[in-house]
Amino acid sequence: ITIADLTKEAYDRVDKLDDDVQAFLALNKEKATATAAELDKVPFEERGPLFGLPIGVKDNIVTEGLETTCASKILQGFNPIYDATVVNKLREAGMVTIGKLNMDEFAMGSSNENSAYKTTKNPWALDRVPGGSSGASAAAVAAGEVPFSLGSDTGGSIRQPASYCGVVGMKPTYGRVSRFGLVAFASSLDQIGPITRNVTDNALLLEAISGLDPHDSTSADVEVPNFAAALTGDVKGLRIAVPKEYLGEGVSEAVRQSVLDALKVLENLGATWEEVSLPHSKYALATYYILSSSEASSNLSRFDGIRYGFRAENVQNLMELYKETRSQGFGDEVKRRIMLGTYSLSAGTYDAYYKKAQQVRTLIKEDYDKVLADYDVIVGPTAPTPAFKIGENVEDPLTMYANDILTIPINLAGVPAISIPCGFENGLPLGLQIIGNYFDESTIYRVAHAYE
Ligand code: GLN
Repeated sequence: ITIADLTKEAYDRVDKLDDDVQAFLALNKEKATATAAELDKVPFEERGPLFGLPIGVKDNIVTEGLETTCASKILQGFNPIYDATVVNKLREAGMVTIGKLNMDEFAMGSSNENSAYKTTKNPWALDRVPGGSSGASAAAVAAGEVPFSLGSDTGGSIRQPASYCGVVGMKPTYGRVSRFGLVAFASSLDQIGPITRNVTDNALLLEAISGLDPHDSTSADVEVPNFAAALTGDVKGLRIAVPKEYLGEGVSEAVRQSVLDALKVLENLGATWEEVSLPHSKYALATYYILSSSEASSNLSRFDGIRYGFRAENVQNLMELYKETRSQGFGDEVKRRIMLGTYSLSAGTYDAYYKKAQQVRTLIKEDYDKVLADYDVIVGPTAPTPAFKIGENVEDPLTMYANDILTIPINLAGVPAISIPCGFENGLPLGLQIIGNYFDESTIYRVAHAYE
């Protein structure tokens, strides 16, 4: 089989399935076909493990000459003049970018219903959401349109969709992967990560995209291990912490049971587990929405109608141009966050909201530090329930926000976490979340692989 065949096969799958799944916003067919022909000339001895394999990329990661919209009207027609660092790394690994994947607008949401273009469907049940914001990144992999994708995770956006779609999604340690070329939502929380069908693929892809980048001062100067080498199957003596806050109120009985069953499997393999407490978890949602919205209000100020994409017409002066462009270009959820963030950062409210939230963030991080000093990993569910119905939560932002209650604290702490499939509720997949220590994705992969 040639890379040209593989690439064509991916587009055939997209042709066949995407009318139903609605995952892709843009396809890269001409360029991908040309790339594949070039890759076919490379001698076998020079090919790495991901060489020639197709991948889909979330639409908030910039791709040179390929429209990048963040699923927002305000970026309609924006063709970046450079590739994100991760996209360069995919190229170095010999991967073929098939196209750009739908998302919630600017990665704000949990269902893909906040896309300005379309709502991606969950391949397991087309009347259900795929999760979000990297919903299409998970759905495209689950449907078999592409075997690999990249998502981004600010408060759960890789893990929650992975859980809803029955695939493997990793949010790496903050700083593990360069954010250069990732359109910023909340810069202190955002991380790019891999979504795949199994743990081995995930480990290989994370290795390929990781590493220090001079273009991103928050990328970390730490060694990138051969993550796949950690997949030994051996978890004897491993110490697992199970936070009681993760199996409490709001978590469905089937979800709870699936986690307890997974712990049994790991116990049978020689691991032990104990209940612990992360007492500040109850403040995580409020803290996250203050901090992420504050950062978003600042990050999104660059979309002014002058520099990128869409520009409002029939305006009389510059102020009106800004105002009209932003009023017409941003969707409701994005506006809601900009207002919340601007308010939290204002002189009169800064101390009560933004500063307070920063202090609570430290307490949440310390909860994780304490537990991870005594245990190798923390295990719990990824989401409190399986995928909900399209339309079910759109009128109710607070219920929508509560979906990420189990993933958000991990971003606030900055530690890595994976979601892997661990069972079903009414035929819909559930996810097991495994959380590790800073830059110790290897242990997470080892546990995930042993369980898988
Ligand atoms: N659903 C959360 C939000 O709406 C998380 C999004 C994300 O991780 N990008 O902010």
